[in-house]
Amino acid sequence: MAENQSTKKYRGNCHCTAYVFEVELPDTIKTGLEANCSYSYKRGGIYLSPDNDDDITFVKGDPTTLSNYTFGGVKHQFCSTCSTLLFRIDTKTYVNIRVLQKIKIRNINTKPLDENATPPPWSPPKFTGPEPPAEIEGANIHTGGCHCGAVTLAIKSKPIDSTYDGLVMECDCSICTRNAYCWIYPSKPQVTIVGASGMGYYSFGGGVWRKSFCRTCGMSVHNRIEDYTSEQIEKELPVEQRQWARDHLDWSPVNLRVIDGVDLGALNITRVNGSERSGPPKPGGYVDP
Ligand SMILES: [Zn+2]
Ligand SMILES: [Zn+2]
Repeated sequence: MAENQSTKKYRGNCHCTAYVFEVELPDTIKTGLEANCSYSYKRGGIYLSPDNDDDITFVKGDPTTLSNYTFGGVKHQFCSTCSTLLFRIDTKTYVNIRVLQKIKIRNINTKPLDENATPPPWSPPKFTGPEPPAEIEGANIHTGGCHCGAVTLAIKSKPIDSTYDGLVMECDCSICTRNAYCWIYPSKPQVTIVGASGMGYYSFGGGVWRKSFCRTCGMSVHNRIEDYTSEQIEKELPVEQRQWARDHLDWSPVNLRVIDGVDLGALNITRVNGSERSGPPKPGGYVDP
């Protein structure tokens, strides 16, 4: 951060609110920093560092209990419950500004954290599982995985490029902003995941979706809805969730940041303003802590 810039206190937190901290950063944040490494791309981190590491103070949660993933000599810290990436630590600590409250991440420009940095070498983990069973004309197999390789997956889909005419969505709600999801919506038979035993799941607000992530590297993988039977939907789900569940039982949304070789900039992305949904928060829904 530049010297003599006036600062103010921001509050940040992971989505499940197990970790809440305050940090001194510039009064007005217009630009964040993007690291040019494979991990930062996959996690969508946008960073700023306070002048001193002491300018980060924890309000809730013990930072020594955060999960750590080290790559290329850089430590990345995330919440093991909700997978939100909070910090990037090299010679100093950077805050992932996606986790700051009242930040409109879409209004933030980005520039390289260090344009002279050589990205640490990384080879995408190889998917060796079975081909997804869906039969789709003109489809290709797109493979990818988390960063550490514990989880790999394949999607059978039409080319995921500028010609793709299915829904690709980015939302700015509390969870999508924090985890930098870019969603694509294949059906369950279009997706095969290997290494699911290494995944954690996070859900909130009584919703039927469980957001999966690699427990080792924190990478957000997909959004799972159980294979509910009609009886289970009637018995186990709150009334307001039932129709939604019936309509989406077949979905298997995937975070495109896990798929190798996708150029997000080339896609026709629908941007949804989830943060502006009106009405009172749902019971168990997200509220800034
Ligand atoms: Zn959390
Ligand atoms: Zn991983």
